[in-house]
Amino acid sequence: MKAPDVDLSLCSMCGICVDLCPLTFKINDAGYIEVIHPYGDSQEDINEAIRDCRSDCISWKESQ
Ligand code: SF4
Repeated sequence: MKAPDVDLSLCSMCGICVDLCPLTFKINDAGYIEVIHPYGDSQEDINEAIRDCRSDCISWKESQ
């Protein structure tokens, strides 16, 4: 199975991923993007977030 992964060292906190996939990404209490549910939104919507991410820091990673 694969899951979206955010490279926080590149993330500019633009918020696009949260706007597009609010069930998958959120801004956590520490102020960083967190993947709260790898399949919270459709794969199509997550792919759109990956395409639209201005910092190109979301990718699919193999998960267990
Ligand atoms: S879209 Fe990319 S740069 Fe913007 S908040 Fe999400 S992970 Fe960070």
